[in-house]
Amino acid sequence: MKSLATSLAVAAAFLSSFVLAQDGTPTIVQGGTNPYTCDPTKCIAPKCMCASQTPPGGIKPADAPQFVTITFDDSVQPELLQTAYDLLNVQNPNGCKAKGSWYVSMMYTDFSLVQSWFAQGNEVADHTFTHVGTPSAQEIQAAADMLKAYAGVPHGMLKGFRAPFLNYTADTLKEIAAQGFLYDTSATAVVDDCYWPYTLDNGLANDCWTGICNPGTVNLPGVWEVPMYAVLDNASIPQLMDVYLAGTPADVTTWSQTNFDRHYNGNRQPFGIYVHPTHLTNYAGLPDATALKSGVVSFIQSLASKPDVWFVTNDQLLQWMQNPVPASQLASQSYMQCSKPVTPKEICNGLENLNYNSTVVTGDLINACNFNTSNFATCFNCPGSAPSLQTPVPASGVANGTAGYRTPLPDNCNPLWWDPVAGQCLCTTSSCAYQDTSVPKQQNSTNGTTSGSASPSTSGTAASSAAPGPVAATALTMAAALLTAFIL
Ligand SMILES: [Zn+2]
Repeated sequence: MKSLATSLAVAAAFLSSFVLAQDGTPTIVQGGTNPYTCDPTKCIAPKCMCASQTPPGGIKPADAPQFVTITFDDSVQPELLQTAYDLLNVQNPNGCKAKGSWYVSMMYTDFSLVQSWFAQGNEVADHTFTHVGTPSAQEIQAAADMLKAYAGVPHGMLKGFRAPFLNYTADTLKEIAAQGFLYDTSATAVVDDCYWPYTLDNGLANDCWTGICNPGTVNLPGVWEVPMYAVLDNASIPQLMDVYLAGTPADVTTWSQTNFDRHYNGNRQPFGIYVHPTHLTNYAGLPDATALKSGVVSFIQSLASKPDVWFVTNDQLLQWMQNPVPASQLASQSYMQCSKPVTPKEICNGLENLNYNSTVVTGDLINACNFNTSNFATCFNCPGSAPSLQTPVPASGVANGTAGYRTPLPDNCNPLWWDPVAGQCLCTTSSCAYQDTSVPKQQNSTNGTTSGSASPSTSGTAASSAAPGPVAATALTMAAALLTAFIL
């Protein structure tokens, strides 16, 4: 069995092949060698991690969790969010719902839905303002600022970045490091470079055909790369995003299963399912996506039947990478818990009930912001003019101190406890009441199939009501450590 030490000098030859990048654009991958080197006696966890095909911490592959990351890209809209929840409608072994990561671009995004997704324990990450490749610093920063101002996702909880079209350069990686992001996930891993996530202290070890792995090109201590794991089709062509567009649902399921087994029966590197939800969502006048989506959902549900498969966000994956434990101990890790705050009143924190009328989102507490080019709902103040790349967060349309003003999220309050209407943090101590939202895992469970509503709280409530008797609020006082994990 290989040990971590084998990553001391990685010099893998690459097969000539091509990758279908986002939106199906083919990219030629030249043959070549990997110049990446890393000394694991000098690169020490948790701050530094060499690229390695084997699990971190000396954990044997058979004892490692098999992580599955389901990620979504681009704008967040009601129908797209529903598609995401339909894919994530499975449970982890500890009874918590599967979690996903969304790489959000700003155009056409409804920020009340971003906040709702985040409040469910899912990850929100940066995918630029206008969705451009090789993005400028301004493109990256503008998206982060809007996600904070209108979705209440503070910069400290916005940890990840993915380049639109997966089109990134060394400068892109340097820029996300400068802006304080924890990780990038734009690089492609095929077979010879199928590494677990690693830090960029010693540079990049994927996409080496571009020259980006050459010594000195990228050296970013403590910044992680979470490679995107390709699926080889039956012609051994790597497919990366929207694999379900590359063949019939039956063929895609076969390739996906074969590649999953390569991970699961091999070194347990994470397995990724990378989705543009527009392709799996039905729109009037466009081809019916029902069969495509059913194929993906069935595949995900088959993976969920394995006792050591965990559906996690890239943020959760990196928390494990920094403190790896065997699969047998994962259920008790703080970052794998699921709960929601028990607030004394309904507040605008992403957990309130929303209504969906066509594509319009409404709720008692949210504001509707309408401009010619962008319309969105938010718990926070509507801007006085439409956000732009130059001015992503224009001055509020309502003045501070006047009726209807919403107080921006302060840095010292957990977003789930912030009441922007009252301008009050409802949790100011280390002991605040949370309700555990896990339910015992049922094999082949398909309950909670939602109809129409994109609100996961609807299905969550239904599942809870199905339990014997009324739900006595199992408010549990979370340990200070867990609370700390929620705060910046
Ligand atoms: Zn995109």
